[in-house]
Amino acid sequence: MTAPLFNRLALIGIGLIGSSIAQAVRARGLAGEIAISTRSEETLRRAGELGLGDHYVLDAADAVEGADLVILCVPVGANEAVAKWIAPALKPDAILTDVGSTKASVVAQIAPYVPEGVHFIPGHPIAGTEQSGPDAGFATLFEDRWCILTPPDNVDKAALERLSNFWTACGSTVDTMDPNHHDLVLAIVSHLPHLIAYNIVGTADDLETVTKSEVIKYSASGFRDFTRLAASDPTMWRDVCLNNKDAILEMLARFSEDLSALQRAIRWGDGDALFDLFTRTRGIRRSIIEAGQETDAPDFGRIKID
Ligand code: NAP
Repeated sequence: MTAPLFNRLALIGIGLIGSSIAQAVRARGLAGEIAISTRSEETLRRAGELGLGDHYVLDAADAVEGADLVILCVPVGANEAVAKWIAPALKPDAILTDVGSTKASVVAQIAPYVPEGVHFIPGHPIAGTEQSGPDAGFATLFEDRWCILTPPDNVDKAALERLSNFWTACGSTVDTMDPNHHDLVLAIVSHLPHLIAYNIVGTADDLETVTKSEVIKYSASGFRDFTRLAASDPTMWRDVCLNNKDAILEMLARFSEDLSALQRAIRWGDGDALFDLFTRTRGIRRSIIEAGQETDAPDFGRIKID
């Protein structure tokens, strides 16, 4: 147990990420009290049943009252409305952050509403699953994962250190970068893979019924690994696409070019080109395992389910 880093934590949005933060904070005693606010009565009631916080309110402004750390955990497209709502109630010297998967657009949505004296430091924990809602959260989600903060140039150093300490205490390693750079990096490591998965699973879904049943039956040969990503929350991913448009279009263009080159190698029977590419990509996976971001167990460590 660490001594509380904050007296009052306010979580606005209590889905997978908000719930995981609440549980990590509880497990490690990182905040004196936790106030929770969400859009719907149903989710708020469920958060209460799960015992995620100390105070539960539908009014987000009430939740942030007196909070020294406020974390917005809503889909990226919802940040402007939330920022506008809570701004007048934010305590001077409070730290305001978020967990959104895109950063430049979130900064543009929130920054204009941040009152003088409040420290706005955007963030993005690089941790998640394909599930959503408060039941999907768990206390260890952020352990051995990265958390990227995109502080403004004139950031208050003490506030940045407090927020970094918070994420470190949740089990993450903190990195800082510029919001546009974050968006470019995430476009390739996260957004493009999800779009490829959505597309391939969509293509399979469009196939004739008889073939579709075979796609499901024989999915263990590769297809099912895409379906995990393609099962991710539609609202979250719609917002990611709309809010990181330029970087995603850039990566999609590069991807299409490389796919054409692959197509050409197959058409021309260029075995060397195929072998070289497949060897290079195998090396990337090895590096990910060595960096502790994946298990080296065969088949992702899946066990047979009877
Ligand atoms: P989630 O499980 O779907 O939960 C979303 C939360 O936001 C719920 O409390 C929901 O409220 C609320 N919400 C939804 N639409 C809203 C709106 N229009 N206005 C106000 N509140 C709204 O989502 P999540 O996976 O926790 O994602 C939250 C944020 O974390 C997103 O910005 C996402 O980009 C980022 N993120 C996600 C992952 C991941 O793997 N999922 C990883 C890293 C970062 P109700 O249920 O009450 O409607």
